[in-house]
Amino acid sequence: MGDTSLLLEIVKNMSKNIIESKELLTELDRVIGDSDHGINMAKGFSAINDKLEEMEGKDWGCILKTVAMTLISTVGGASGPLYGTGFLRAATVVEGKKEIDKDDVVNMFDEAIKGIKMRGKSNRGDKTMLDALIPAYEALKLAYEEGQNSLKAFKRAEESALEGVEYTKTIIAKKGRASYLGERSLGHQDPGATSSYIIIKSITEILEK
Ligand code: ADP
Ligand code: MG
Ligand code: MG
Repeated sequence: MGDTSLLLEIVKNMSKNIIESKELLTELDRVIGDSDHGINMAKGFSAINDKLEEMEGKDWGCILKTVAMTLISTVGGASGPLYGTGFLRAATVVEGKKEIDKDDVVNMFDEAIKGIKMRGKSNRGDKTMLDALIPAYEALKLAYEEGQNSLKAFKRAEESALEGVEYTKTIIAKKGRASYLGERSLGHQDPGATSSYIIIKSITEILEK
């Protein structure tokens, strides 16, 4: 997959894209939540962006741990600890590594999802970020098994994440604030699934360069 300068470029692009999507994510959360998902995520990722220089020269595990801890400490909403746990669990897979391979990528993604599931007591079909992340992970793993490169694998993951976002419109929320709405959450896309799609798309964009 690549070295730590690639990871820093990815983190920088995630920050840029999340900050640019602040209004969209907040608007989605206004409909089925409390109008702060964009604010929460932009706050977390601008704090991460401020730490890019300090992360230079560090290994994959260390960089991802910084991303995780920054999200946990700066994001007030549910999404901060959930994404934070995801990044933290991914970090443990690549502790001390300056270079990572496809197996590491798959294992990081797998661990991140396990962490979010555990922390959120949630699963696929609850209308959360997991409805974008799990199909993305499955598509990525399958693409690698078929011998595709990382760009192709992430392209597939991105497409599946987007399908997952669309799928959240068709289901009733069972976790998070949107679950208070019950059936009224139907027809609306989940803000967290949308930010997960943006995060994955941010990886693809850098691999495309
Ligand atoms: P809050 O709901 O505390 O205001 P945010 O608005 O930042 O936090 O994040 C809301 C998003 O977090 C939801 O759209 C959903 O994707 C995700 N989420 C909420 N609860 C859970 C959970 N238990 N498991 C997984 N994701 C969750
Ligand atoms: Mg919210
Ligand atoms: Mg909130």
